[in-house]
Amino acid sequence: CHILAIETSCDETSVSIVKDGKIVLSNLVSSQIETHKAFGGVVPEVASRKHVESITLMIEEAIQESGVALEDISAIAVTQGPGLVGALLVGIMAAKSLAFALDKPLIGTHHIAGHIYANNLTAEIQYPSMALVVSGGHTELVLLESEGQFQLIGSTRDDAVGEAYDKVARALGFPYPGGPYVDNLAMEAESAVSLPRVWLEANSYDFSLSGLKSAVLNVVNQKKMRGEEPMIGEIARGFQESVVEVLVEKAVRAVRQYGAKQLLLCGGVAVNRGLRANLTDRCEKEKIELLIPPFEYCTDNAAMIGAAAYLKWKHSQFTTLDMKAEPSLSLEKWSVTYQPVEQ
Ligand code: ATP
Ligand code: MG
Ligand code: FE
Repeated sequence: CHILAIETSCDETSVSIVKDGKIVLSNLVSSQIETHKAFGGVVPEVASRKHVESITLMIEEAIQESGVALEDISAIAVTQGPGLVGALLVGIMAAKSLAFALDKPLIGTHHIAGHIYANNLTAEIQYPSMALVVSGGHTELVLLESEGQFQLIGSTRDDAVGEAYDKVARALGFPYPGGPYVDNLAMEAESAVSLPRVWLEANSYDFSLSGLKSAVLNVVNQKKMRGEEPMIGEIARGFQESVVEVLVEKAVRAVRQYGAKQLLLCGGVAVNRGLRANLTDRCEKEKIELLIPPFEYCTDNAAMIGAAAYLKWKHSQFTTLDMKAEPSLSLEKWSVTYQPVEQ
């Protein structure tokens, strides 16, 4: 099975050919970050236009690089949501055209299912599994009882982790996307300002980051008003320690409560050094198997979309050509449906 996968949900245009949901034959990614930097964030209209400029050429190149003949492509997969509607539409139109012209099935794919199944590209997911999704728009704990069965057990009630990092970075004077700057500062700082841990109710697997973000902004503003140096290293370290401690605690508790065999870290923030180091240590101590995709499969890419789409391909669960972009597509509803065994 050779799936041609397309990802255009936000500010990366990506096309990949994935064999059997595991072997990446090509994975081209074109980032628009330099364009959006000037605006301090992703501008939806600009993102759509950039996707249009590059998508056709990238499809040609990805096919060529994979060495797979057009007639040997089994299906066309594309991110259907969540994401920016105008950006999603560019990938969807390209995917529909290809599916129609080549007479191949179309598989509308969930972006977060992609982030989770990125873990399957370089390792074997074992069930039940617990996924900790940390990205620019999502912060979630997702239980996978079996392959392709997604159950949301907790999510952020306000900001996503990546979003909080970007806002804190901006307050500390760094350009978009600021996550990596805060991470680096935090890792190098010798001490940390003390900031709150937001646990919510005792049994909750939800997260809340806006209070912590406000606490950081308060510290920065107070320093500025007093004419003092803002001590950005200490602030970054305090912020990162608070975020990481809560993420790690809740993830480990969820693994235990649901009897998961593995913890799957994924999403763009999975490259965070503090989070990786802390989670790796903790999982070693607790004897929990931890999977983290390599860097290129943590940030947005089409290979992960090919990996997730393969779940649907195996069960012939295709999408019709009148498919629409779904900016808030539900992960649970995207689960694979298993046919009842006939008596
Ligand atoms: P979603 O997947 O929820 O739709 P997205 O695709 O925009 O959102 P990703 O591309 O997965 O998000 O991740 C981008 C986010 O990751 C940005 O907010 C960025 O600041 C953050 N990020 C990247 N590197 C780091 C890091 N080292 N530490 C913290 N955050 C980081
Ligand atoms: Mg991105
Ligand atoms: Fe993403």
